[in-house]
Amino acid sequence: MGLVNGAIGTVKSISKSIESNQIQFINIDFATGTEYAIERIKVKFLISDKAFVVREQFPLCLSYAVTIHKSQGLSLKNAVIEAGNTIFNAGQSYVAFSRVTKIEGIHLINFDPYSIKANTEAIVEYNRLRKTYRADLPVLLITKRRWSKVWDLIWGVEKYFDQSKQQNIIKRKSCIDFFKFHGIENSDGNSSCINSIFQCIFHSSIIQLLLESEHQNTALSTELCKLFHMYTINKTILKSTLIKEKIYDHLNIDDGTNPFAILSTLFSKNYDISKLVQYELLKTDRCKSCNYTIMSKEVNNILPLKVGNATKAFNLQELIDKQHGHWFNTLKFCNKCQKGQNTYRKVTFNSCQQIIVIALNISVSKINKNKQTGFIKSVPTSKIVLCDNSYSVISAIFCYYIDNEINRYSAIIKNKSAWIELDDLNVKSIRWPTNSKNACILFLEKK
Ligand SMILES: [Zn+2]
Repeated sequence: MGLVNGAIGTVKSISKSIESNQIQFINIDFATGTEYAIERIKVKFLISDKAFVVREQFPLCLSYAVTIHKSQGLSLKNAVIEAGNTIFNAGQSYVAFSRVTKIEGIHLINFDPYSIKANTEAIVEYNRLRKTYRADLPVLLITKRRWSKVWDLIWGVEKYFDQSKQQNIIKRKSCIDFFKFHGIENSDGNSSCINSIFQCIFHSSIIQLLLESEHQNTALSTELCKLFHMYTINKTILKSTLIKEKIYDHLNIDDGTNPFAILSTLFSKNYDISKLVQYELLKTDRCKSCNYTIMSKEVNNILPLKVGNATKAFNLQELIDKQHGHWFNTLKFCNKCQKGQNTYRKVTFNSCQQIIVIALNISVSKINKNKQTGFIKSVPTSKIVLCDNSYSVISAIFCYYIDNEINRYSAIIKNKSAWIELDDLNVKSIRWPTNSKNACILFLEKK
């Protein structure tokens, strides 16, 4: 029947033996209209001197796709063609596209204009032939112009598609996968702090969901949404002066160079976002003499963590555990038994939402480069557990010092397992800085 290695066909049916209940034939149409019954074939391998292995199987391989090279010679009505940056040769895209008989049948995924390459010598030869035999035809131009490469997109059906029928989860994941990273122009030269903050906010997949929903509860969220949409449009470069005009100027922030101050004001005035970052602490104050106990709850948006001057590097969970869940002396006056300097306190987490924002060494604007702050280890990989929820770091704001105590900030954002630094208009992939020394704000999302 002229069947050769590499032939492609469609499985039409599978024949099973009634006696042995074993599959006997796989019936395949090799695009000829006739079905061929393929049976198992015995192959004998010599593995050492006198030892053989015999394997019996159907000589078939499931093919979801063929390479462009293997597609040569095929005529197809429809083809889904991946012509992205995997194309490596002149004429290769042409081979793929010319398999299809009508333009309507071409479906491109991951298309990169640069994948269309022509061999320069071939163009020269075409021009020579044209000049000699068909002078009426125009000369083909040789262009050295290179299109910029596009990002690879994930185009397959995502594997959690069946796992979850909740639209939210699918939307959230696809946001992460398709989201691109843009710089924000530091248009007044004084906005690295606000730029870093908005990069972190725009890159939280949970806040993205909020910004993409149609109902915004406050005027501030509506403005934030507009900015987010501008940010996600490829061709616009968002300017920090616009962020300042639309959002920041309405916030009445005391210290515009302190990310902690800006974020706490932003959260406190934006009900939608504060609902996502809020956590509740339970404080127990007890008198050592009379055991008089006062319990109080405290709701907050940003979790302050002291890193201190420790020489030992702690991970985030250890830092949180150091400050929560234990009794420590507060040495206050007891109202019940009237004894002074006699109280102690325990702080525990009562509830946490989907995002945790951590401020490291709260007075970030006050610290200077001479003051050694502690180290934090394994921030990019470690998970922390709060109220039985597991969180991991998805972005951070780093603070660096330049002359005259002016702080400069940049944001670092997680992109799958890698990190991207967004320093105003500069976007580059980096390694997480050792010991997280200059980290001042961390954004963690629930897993
Ligand atoms: Zn007392």
